[in-house]
Order: sequence, then structure tokens, then C-alpha cells
Amino acid sequence: MSETLENLLSEDRQFPPPADFAANANVTAAAYDEAAADRLAFWAKQAQRLDWFQEWDQVLDWSNPPFAKWFVGGTLNVAYNCLDRHLAAGNGDKVAIHWEGEPGDSRAITYADLHAEVCRAANTLTDLGVTAGDRVAIYLPMIPEAAVAMLACARIGATHSVVFGGFSKDALSGRIKDASAKVVITADGGFRRGNPSALKPTVDEAVAECPTIEKVLVVRRTGQDVDWTEGRDLWWHETVATASDKHEAQPFDAEHPLFILYTSGTTAKPKGILHTTGGYLTQASYTHHAVFDLKPETDVYWCTADIGWVTGHSYIVYGPLSNGATQVMYEGTPDTPHRGRFWEIVQKYGVTILYTAPTAIRTFAKWGDDIPAQFDLSSLRLLGSVGEPINPEAWMWYREHIGGGRTPVVDTWWQTETGAIMISPLPGVTACKPGSAMGPLPGIAADVVNDAGQIVGNGGGGYLVLNEPWPSMLRTIWGDDQRFIDTYWSRFAEHGYYFAGDGAKKDDDGALWLLGRVDDVMLVSGHNISTTEVESALVSHPAVAESAVVGATDPTTGQAVVAFVILKGNASASEAELKDHVAKTLGPICKPRQIQFVSELPKTRSGKIMRRLLKDIAEKRALGDVTTLQDAGVMQLIQQGMSTTSED
Ligand code: ATP
Ligand code: MG
Repeated sequence: MSETLENLLSEDRQFPPPADFAANANVTAAAYDEAAADRLAFWAKQAQRLDWFQEWDQVLDWSNPPFAKWFVGGTLNVAYNCLDRHLAAGNGDKVAIHWEGEPGDSRAITYADLHAEVCRAANTLTDLGVTAGDRVAIYLPMIPEAAVAMLACARIGATHSVVFGGFSKDALSGRIKDASAKVVITADGGFRRGNPSALKPTVDEAVAECPTIEKVLVVRRTGQDVDWTEGRDLWWHETVATASDKHEAQPFDAEHPLFILYTSGTTAKPKGILHTTGGYLTQASYTHHAVFDLKPETDVYWCTADIGWVTGHSYIVYGPLSNGATQVMYEGTPDTPHRGRFWEIVQKYGVTILYTAPTAIRTFAKWGDDIPAQFDLSSLRLLGSVGEPINPEAWMWYREHIGGGRTPVVDTWWQTETGAIMISPLPGVTACKPGSAMGPLPGIAADVVNDAGQIVGNGGGGYLVLNEPWPSMLRTIWGDDQRFIDTYWSRFAEHGYYFAGDGAKKDDDGALWLLGRVDDVMLVSGHNISTTEVESALVSHPAVAESAVVGATDPTTGQAVVAFVILKGNASASEAELKDHVAKTLGPICKPRQIQFVSELPKTRSGKIMRRLLKDIAEKRALGDVTTLQDAGVMQLIQQGMSTTSED
């Protein structure tokens, strides 16, 4: 990318917070001033929202960048903060998790129940020889035991590495080996799309290649047959269920490793991101309180992410539980047994705060407005989005058809690496623009710079950077400090900025717009064009549900725009019509050379579009690394489609 990214789309719609929301908001505009006046004092104050065994001597040690230490000398226990202190405050009978199984079974788990189960699991892991600093792999479906397993590790200072339950044997064994895990916690299987989906066979195959694994702890969920290795395999219901529920949480250093989590692999081979204890919990907890405006007494919160992604770590487990939330956790897919399942769950539990991903929102829009309209969604008061840029039209659809035109919508930008939300509106303060993450949260410094690392003015585009360390920042890539330095800190080394890998622009008011990954930026006739803006232009056509755009090598323009488009349910549009629509919306330079109609797009298992694979297709190359691809069949279908259409 040369100087800047083109700034193409402009958005005039703006939605200030409803007056009563603003009047009762957890966090007001004063937080920005407070943080600006003294950033470290601001974070120290947020750390005080937690219970510490020993308070810190120093808020931040940044003497050896990029290796940060936060809350130096402080000690705490993460599980204590998520459980014990709520019991001590008299909230043991409050529901922590309303769990909904895909077949329709459900469990209401109180904070007292969750505490007891975590203590039993902590005692079991200790009996199995797991001690502080050991790594434990967790490969589970979306069942409460997933949260229990994570909290039990945290309680005894073991470092968990959660591997998404849909991953293959190779992905699992690779992650186990990378972290030298000692124990795997898994299940016989989970329910997905109406059927039991086995996990244990994958673990058996993976563990055969992983000599560090001593024990495999197995939750019985589906009841399907499993192979059993005597001496290595143990049933959860025969060990954890019979263990003592008395367990004293021990203090751990603020910089004690809490978890390793591999990035979702949209751009490349996943990286093992290491997070530690005090700073991580401080920011996960504060941002959950501030961005979701959680009122623990009245709200019912639901984050639809899988626990295998960072969103599940920070906004199902550590953020909400540290804040004493009541939340919904759902095992299955949104279309089982029908396409209204999410809305049925919102209605059943009276969900007030919903946090989901643009890929889901676009899918719901494609399925039709009439589906959510059949359910009572009036309990909702706040909606959130994470994972990809949200196209303005998808944002509007979410607000109208899910939020009833009443609720604020917060678009939250962050990464596995940042550990917690970094750029987002505050729902009681910010007048939101559809599709914009608006600005850095109080205490966070983010900006947009050009190639030379100079901050661009309003109206300009370039690279997103984080200019100051933040409490929940990654501490390194597990076992590879050099890759940590090279990937994030070398691009703008002389400025000391963290390079996020995403493009962004500032509009005329200074609001931030995320423009997708810098690797995806297209260079067309000397113009740097973001895939996001062309995709949003396509999605603004009434017939288009979703699109993915890539730059393909072109003899005349350097790169040309190639678009893959999914149309809405019964809608139709011609290729020429959509090309003209883009040209009219963004300018002729962005007009796609080719539009390919498809029924699915290649996505990671967390639902993010994998543009690099589409680029391989557009440039007629062999496909790159597909290990994180959700459904390999999709690529074949698209390839076949491409070879039967001509380019004009
Ligand atoms: P890898 O780094 O292995 O390619 P990944 O970047 O997809 O994987 P994650 O850490 O899960 O892994 O995703 C973070 C990325 O998701 C961000 O860098 C950004 O590209 C995108 N993202 C997340 N939230 C938003 C958002 N609200 N707006 C725009 N982009 C977002
Ligand atoms: Mg990434």
C-alpha cells in the first residue's frame, strides 16, 4: 500500500443513544476525559473493580518494549473473581448460565453451582498431576463444562489452550504439540445440525501423535460409543462429579500465563497468542461493563460466539462472569431445528443484550425479515457486532429487524491479540454511524497512519495502529518472541506502534472505519481500494445479501476488482446491474471486472471470509493453506462456477 487508502463511501446516518439509555449508562463521556488526563491511573481504577490478594506496586512496566508487564507485583485469582466473590456478596443463587442444548434440553446453573463444579474440576485436575504453569488443552462443544474447564485451569494456575471443537485432528494435534499440553479435556461429542457430532475419535487420533498428553478427561454429552484407553482416559462424571467441592483459590502473579489461544487463521498459519492474568481480566471485565452496559441485576446477556474463539473467552467466560452477569449459552447452530432458533431463544430467556457477528447478521438478512418478525424481541436493549467489518446495510438491518429500531448497535473492533475490545462506541454516549466502530475506548490509543507512520488527517486512510500499550495486550506468541516482534512491532518500529494488520480510515468527523486486512487491499490503476468498501457497496444493493471482493492481477490496471456475490432469498440482479451499482456508489475505478454469483463463500470456522482463497481462484492458482477453512466443498463449487463463466 502506498501513502493512503482511498476514502470512498460516505455515511450520513447517525443514531444518538436513546435518552433513557444515556441517563442510566454505566459509563459516561467523563471516562474519556478521565483516561486522557491520566491513562495509567484510569486503568488502575478499573483494576480495582477486581479483588486482589495483593495490590500492585506499578501499573505498567514498559521498560523493555514490546514486552509489557501490567500491575507489577499484584496477585489475584481469576476464578475467585468470576465466582467466589459473587457468592460472598450473597449472589450464589443467581443464575450464571442459562444453557440451551441444541436438541432443546436446558440447564440453569447458578453461581453457587458453577463455583462448586469449578472447585471439583480444580481438585480433579490437581489429582491428575496438573500444577500451575502446566498447559491443558480443551476441545469441547458449547456445553457448560467448557466454561468450567477454563475456570478450573485458571483457579489452579494451569494455562488453558482451547481448541475449537470443529477443528480437525491435525489442527488439534498441532496446537497440543505447540503448547506441550499435559491433559486434554473433551467430550464424547456435541449436537450440531440435529445430530450428535463426535469429538473423542479426533482426540484419540490426535493424542496418538502427542507424547506429552498424560490424561484425557471426557464429558459425556451425546452418549455415543467411544473407544477407551485404560489408564489414560477418564470420565468427567466419574472423577469431577465425585471430587470435593471445597477448593481454596490461590493467588497468582498478575503476569502469570492465563491462556494460549490460536488466531482464527484468516490470513495465515494461526499464531499461539499468550495472555496473562491481571491486565487481561481488568480489561475484559471493564470493557464488558462499559460497552455492554451490563446491569447484573436485570440484564440477560447472550454472546453467540463459540468458546473456542477469543470472543468466547473474553465475552462468555471472563468478562461476564467477573461482572456477575446472567447469560445464555447455546450449544448449536442458528438453523436447527428452524431458522428462527436464535429469536426463539431471545424470547424464551428475555435476552436484553445480544452480541453476534456480521456473518450471522448477513445470513439472517438473507433468510428473510419475516423470520425474526415471528418472535417477541422487545426485551432487547443493546446489540453488538464483532469479527469483521459490518457493512452499513447489515448494521441497519440488525438495528431495524432485531433491535426494533430502538436499540443502540455497538460495532466492536478487536483481535485475539488485543484480548478485549479496543475500538467501539460507548452505547450511552456515542452517536453511532452504521458500519463504523467510531473510536478507541477510554484508556486506549488507536490511530490511522500512512506508510511512513505519520498520522493521517480526517478523511484519510491507511494502517490501523495502537499507539500505547493496553492491559489485555498479548504478551508474546507462545514460544516465539521473534515472531511476536516481527509480526506486530517491526512495521512501525521507530514510532513504537503496534501494527494490527488492518486498514482503516477516518471520516470527516474523525470516526474510525475498519477497511479489512491490509493484505487484502487492491491496487487498481494506482489507487488503493479496500475490499470492505466495495463489498459494502454491493451489499447496499437490495438484491445482495453478502459479497466478497478480491484484487486479481490484471494486464492493464495492475489489479482488477473481482466480486463474489450471494443474492438474497428470492432476489435477482444481473451482473451488469451490480457493476453499475458499484460504479455509481463508489466511482468507476471500483467497478468490478467480473462478478461471480455463488451460494456460499469460503469462511474460517469462526465465520470470517477467507479472501486469499478467492484470490487464488480469481488468479487461477492452486489454493493456499485451507486447514482453517470451514467447508472445503465450497471451494470446489466456486471453482466450477468460475470455469463456466467468461470475463468481460
Ligand atoms: P489470523 O490473524 O490468523 O489471520 P484472524 O485475524 O481472523 O486470524 P482474529 O483474532 O479472530 O483472527 O480476528 C481479528 C480480526 O478480525 C481483526 O484484525 C479484524 O481484521 C477483524 N475484525 C474483528 N472485529 C472487527 C470489527 N468490528 N470491524 C472490522 N474488522 C474486525
Ligand atoms: Mg489476525
